[in-house]
Amino acid sequence: MIQHLNNCTAPVDEVFFSYQGEGIFAGIAQIFVRFSGCNLKCNYCDTLTSLKINSNTKYYTQQALYELILDVYRKNKNNFYSQIPSVSFTGGEPLLYADYLIDLLKILKKDKFSIYLETNGTLPEELTKISTYCDVVAMDIKFKSACKKDLFAQHKNFLNISRHKVFIKTIITKSTTKQEFIKAIKTVCDISKNIKFVIQPSDNTEYINKKVFEFYNLAVSKLKDVRILPQMHKIWKIR
Ligand code: SF4
Repeated sequence: MIQHLNNCTAPVDEVFFSYQGEGIFAGIAQIFVRFSGCNLKCNYCDTLTSLKINSNTKYYTQQALYELILDVYRKNKNNFYSQIPSVSFTGGEPLLYADYLIDLLKILKKDKFSIYLETNGTLPEELTKISTYCDVVAMDIKFKSACKKDLFAQHKNFLNISRHKVFIKTIITKSTTKQEFIKAIKTVCDISKNIKFVIQPSDNTEYINKKVFEFYNLAVSKLKDVRILPQMHKIWKIR
């Protein structure tokens, strides 16, 4: 039972077992908690159903969500073997529910779960509320060409708070410009050259591949760990 439990609830789209499909932890078994709602509207978003909150959206108390996570864990326990079981909080944008998450993350940490936060990196103040409980912060850098907002100031503050546990993902689409990609490299470099930096192509077309390798050369000249990684769950045809 979560102590100091209050009646606050959060909209949750789904809780399920799968394998991480993106970034430097691709391939690890995880329990995914997908919140509904997001503060952005990226033109490549592949979780559109979780963005909308409507009359069908289910709301969970912290206790109900905790029990659901434990239930998914028990049913898939064999997939973790001797590994520390990892819970990925994703969305939508999970940091919209940072206050709600505090007690839940505390108890999951007590139960020896590893906490993985997938975020658009735009809500630094919310991150401060739960960063102590996060083991990994998987942060996207969002480009103006994709979400119509210049978010580099927010990203810089966010990186400053999460620098010891963060890695970066940049999603490269047809509309990503060289100028904004260079700005992303600079934003990361200003915090630390050691932050791991993933370039994720939006598709496998010749045009995108060419762009991705050009961008890789720009990034690797400034940062110490740069990787090009596609979305593996699309290749594996899993969620
Ligand atoms: S931040 Fe993520 S969840 Fe939100 S609109 Fe962009 S891609 Fe979708």
